[in-house]
Amino acid sequence: MDFETLIRDVPDFPRPGILFKDITPLLGHGAGFAAAIRHMAEPWRAAGIEVVAGIEARGFILGAALARELGAGFVPIRKPGKLPGRTLGADYALEYGSDRLEVHADAVASGTRVLLVDDVLATGGTLAASRRLVEGVGADLAGAMVLIELAALRGRERWSDTVPLRALLRY
Ligand code: IMP
Repeated sequence: MDFETLIRDVPDFPRPGILFKDITPLLGHGAGFAAAIRHMAEPWRAAGIEVVAGIEARGFILGAALARELGAGFVPIRKPGKLPGRTLGADYALEYGSDRLEVHADAVASGTRVLLVDDVLATGGTLAASRRLVEGVGADLAGAMVLIELAALRGRERWSDTVPLRALLRY
């Protein structure tokens, strides 16, 4: 299954000069979606993953499917003000301004083996902030898995190699 044909390049979205990788054709293709999830799960099958933590919003779609594939639970990492319980938050810098992500403070028991999942690694700020959150609530972070790494943006440099960061596709 050739995933790359199911990822669409959208120029000038969400702003002029940005080439956006649109994964909705892949999500809408039954065989493609299933194969992508199987391939994303492969490196982690023997890693003892107990919980997949997915980042809002496309990380929910991939992360929930991956959790089922791995027989793991799912924990949402959300935009501010969405989670009803007590939360831990992490702020991170954007090109213009900043953003924030939150997780329930009691989302996982201490030492739980967690896999972090998102759709795209760009500058790496989102994944690095999410890592601070899952480690902050006491998880044993097994690693991170993204569908797409935009290698030119060098997001990987913001990820310390003490745990693995893997990508299914690299552009
Ligand atoms: P970063 O924090 O710069 O690495 O940006 C990663 C976040 O922005 C992820 O949560 C992605 O969902 C989103 N993102 C950045 N670029 C793209 C893209 O080309 N397609 C889809 N999502 C993107």
